[in-house]
Amino acid sequence: MSDPAVRPALVVAVASGKGGTGKTTVAVNLAVVAAARGLRVQLADCDVEEPNAQIFVKARIEETTPVALARPKLDAALCTGCGKCAAVCEFNAIACINGRVVIFDELCHGCGACWLICPENALTDEPRNVGVIESGSANGFRFIQGRVEIGEAAASPPIVRAVRASLGKSDLAIIDAPPGTTCPMVAAVNETGFVCLVTEPTPFGLHDLTIAVETVRELDVPMGVVINRADIGDDRVQRYCADERIPILGEIPHNLRIAQAYSRGDLIVEALPEFAPLFKGILARIERAAVR
Ligand code: SF4
Ligand code: SF4
Repeated sequence: MSDPAVRPALVVAVASGKGGTGKTTVAVNLAVVAAARGLRVQLADCDVEEPNAQIFVKARIEETTPVALARPKLDAALCTGCGKCAAVCEFNAIACINGRVVIFDELCHGCGACWLICPENALTDEPRNVGVIESGSANGFRFIQGRVEIGEAAASPPIVRAVRASLGKSDLAIIDAPPGTTCPMVAAVNETGFVCLVTEPTPFGLHDLTIAVETVRELDVPMGVVINRADIGDDRVQRYCADERIPILGEIPHNLRIAQAYSRGDLIVEALPEFAPLFKGILARIERAAVR
């Protein structure tokens, strides 16, 4: 975590068990209502394999910074083919076949184990660009997004961490977390003040929500749930949240005009101002429950 003097007072991650549940919709609209209230806000799109918050916020990108990850580089003249590098790599990103070393860059997490263990110093660390961070301004707030190069999925967690490290001083930082519950999502959600889990009231939504809840509990971050398309299913999500003592922060109705605004790339609170109080209420509940 960065220096407390320059980091945001409150970091809120908006996450979901899987993609397509409305996570980005919630993140961008929360950022807009927070900025409209006069808070200094940063919105960070950490969905680095498919960032799409920019479609809605239409930020003016002012700065682009490449993100490099150290990758092993082999000096074949020094290699004896002992195989220690392949044995130590827990990601199977390096193999030693018949005494010949083969490196699979796209699986490499840049952990450094192989070049540290190589007894011949045949491996060195070579920085390679695996993505970018773009930042700029939109709708009265600072916008940051990370983007991983195609085919560099193993680089997602470091890029998420780089986006988070670039968050400066503000009242509130909202992180649009990657979908799912794997390493990139954990990198986005870990050490935040609150996690807002977005789900749908369907059996699939509930299944993914239960997995996401377990992950967030492991990270020991307070959480709440936003139910999107709240009137399409049944009340099992509500009953689950009541049983697990997880607050429901708000319910976004299944509404044709919301769907149309989304498909046009419009912000709900701007295209349909009657829904602004809903997002203001979600933000107020998050602020009351969050750890700063
Ligand atoms: S740096 Fe780590 S992940 Fe990459 S090849 Fe070496 S041991 Fe494997
Ligand atoms: S550990 Fe070093 S010497 Fe041994 S196979 Fe790997 S690169 Fe070659």
